[in-house]
Amino acid sequence: MPLNAVCQWPRLTPQPLANTPYQPLCFLAPTSPFCPVPLPMRHLLASALLLSSALLSACSSPTSTTHTAANTAVSDASATTSASAPAESSEPQTAMPDISSPEAALKAALEQNILYMGPFTPYTGSQARIYGSTANGCIAGAASLSDKGEDFQQQRWGRNRHYAHPLMLQYLADLRARSAQFDQPPLVIGDLSQPAGGPYAYSNHSSHNTGLDVDLPFIFVQPRLSEAELNNPRDNYIVQGQTVRESFTPEIATYIKLAASDPRVDRIFVAPMIKKHMCALYEQDEYNGFLRKLRPWFGHRAHMHVRLNCPSDSPECVLPQPIPEGTGCGYEVDSWFLPPPPKSQQVAAKPKPKKELPAQCPLILLQYQQQ
Ligand SMILES: [Zn+2]
Repeated sequence: MPLNAVCQWPRLTPQPLANTPYQPLCFLAPTSPFCPVPLPMRHLLASALLLSSALLSACSSPTSTTHTAANTAVSDASATTSASAPAESSEPQTAMPDISSPEAALKAALEQNILYMGPFTPYTGSQARIYGSTANGCIAGAASLSDKGEDFQQQRWGRNRHYAHPLMLQYLADLRARSAQFDQPPLVIGDLSQPAGGPYAYSNHSSHNTGLDVDLPFIFVQPRLSEAELNNPRDNYIVQGQTVRESFTPEIATYIKLAASDPRVDRIFVAPMIKKHMCALYEQDEYNGFLRKLRPWFGHRAHMHVRLNCPSDSPECVLPQPIPEGTGCGYEVDSWFLPPPPKSQQVAAKPKPKKELPAQCPLILLQYQQQ
């Protein structure tokens, strides 16, 4: 089994992104003082299940202080190959697995000999490193999205908001590949992160700090938007209050479903009415697990905000609160449309503590400012 198969979440595109060299998982490296004996591959699954937490922690940088990547495990071909696993072939694999539901994604992962578990996405594909949370953090070694190809166009390129963790760029490439299967046009990308992440100085973003967030506008244009249209984007509001507008097309519903049906996604913020409509469309489906990832939030009527899970090779990446179980349809989303409680019953919001960036961030941000 090639090492890169265990280093990243299911490869959905045939070619890796350029300039993202793969590295073996650290506990496979015989030079590591923590992993002196290369483990036979066939024993890896059992060992990894027991030792993943300790090993990942031990193999991370000695400066790591807040490691929580406890649920990452990797399996070996001999341990988990199912009867339906594709035969080894020298032909390049161009067929993309079905990841339209968490169940299908898990099956695809098993067929690719990857066992995905837990909030951290197995990943060691880059030198990028995240510190802190999406709302209070930064990233060293972020990669830049290229919109020179045919797959992406980014709005407001000049604002320097096209940087992300390579995991995000891979996610976008895979999302594009899957949406192309539905004959959808190239993706229009909104804000990612700044070169070193960090808080936006002039923006209404409270997150996008660590290269794991992206805004995806509900815009489909074939073949390309003009430079002027990209620099002065026109928002496509697909809902209004409790009304679903005509512009909420089946194509957009499919796009949202594709975006959410990827295990690398932690959550996607959408307007409550978008969530409600997606529930109406898909809740009765056998594979409706992706609905859980759609989180109702204020705004987000003209774009969805996708947030990825922390990659496992950034142990200082702070995980967000887990999202509740279940699809979130029914009462949970309906509660957004209830009238607010009378003033006498409202609980005063506690003042938020002042944010302090992780200790590594000021220097990382300064370095990028000086470049
Ligand atoms: Zn956003």
